[in-house]
Amino acid sequence: MTDEKQNELPNREARETVIQHGLEMLKKGLTKSTGGNVSSRTEDGLVAISPSGMPYGEINPEEVPIINVEGQVVHDGEKPSNEDSMHRFVYDARDDVGGIVHTHSPYASTFASLCEPIPASHYLIAFAGNKIPVAEYETYGTPELGQRTVEALGSEYNACLLANHGVLTVGDSLSDALEIAEMVEYCARIHFQARAIGEPEILPDAEVAHLQEKFKGYGQNS
Ligand code: 13P
Ligand code: ZN
Repeated sequence: MTDEKQNELPNREARETVIQHGLEMLKKGLTKSTGGNVSSRTEDGLVAISPSGMPYGEINPEEVPIINVEGQVVHDGEKPSNEDSMHRFVYDARDDVGGIVHTHSPYASTFASLCEPIPASHYLIAFAGNKIPVAEYETYGTPELGQRTVEALGSEYNACLLANHGVLTVGDSLSDALEIAEMVEYCARIHFQARAIGEPEILPDAEVAHLQEKFKGYGQNS
C-alpha cells in the first residue's frame, strides 16, 4: 500500500489512539491478556473501539472498527468489542466524554467483587468523584450492563466499578480516561491496604469538591 493510500483510511488518528491506549492499559497492568477494551470518540462523532478478543500488541489500524452510537459499523475493522453497547450508551448519555477505558485492574476489581463502592480515603479519588460507585451486576457484553453503567456514572462520576467484573472510566480524551483508570486502581489499592491494618478516615464531600476545583489549576495549568 502506498503512503497516499494508507492516509485514506477513515478515522486513522482515532484508530491509532485506540491501539496505543489499549497497549498502555496492558503495560500498566490494568488488565490481562485480551481483557478490557478502550474507545475514542472521533472528530465526526463516531466511535473507534478496540476489536473483540485481539491481543493488544497485534492490532493494526485497519482492524479497529468504527461504529456509530446506534451500534452500526460505519467503517470496517475486525468484530467490535463485546462491550460496544456499554461504550455507546455512555457516549450517548455524556456529551463531555471523548474516551472510555474498561479494565479488570486487580484492586479495583476486588471491591467490584464485594459490590462495595470505594470511598474517598485518598485525595486522588477526586479525579473520579467523591467515591467510585458500583454498577449493578449484569452479564458482560449485554445492553443491560451498559444501562447499569450509565446509571452508576450519572453526570458527576468519571469512574464506576462493574459488579463482579471490573472498572469503567471516562475522560475528555482516551488518555484522560486511562489516567483516571490508573488513579482508580491506585485508590483501590490504598483503600484495601488501609482497611487491612485499620479503619481509613473518609474525606468529606465538601473537601472532595474543593480538591476538584484545585486540580483544575494543578501543575502548569492556571
Ligand atoms: P472484548 O475483548 O470483546 O472487548 O471483551 C473483553 C471484556 O473485558 C469483556 O467485558
Ligand atoms: Zn470486561
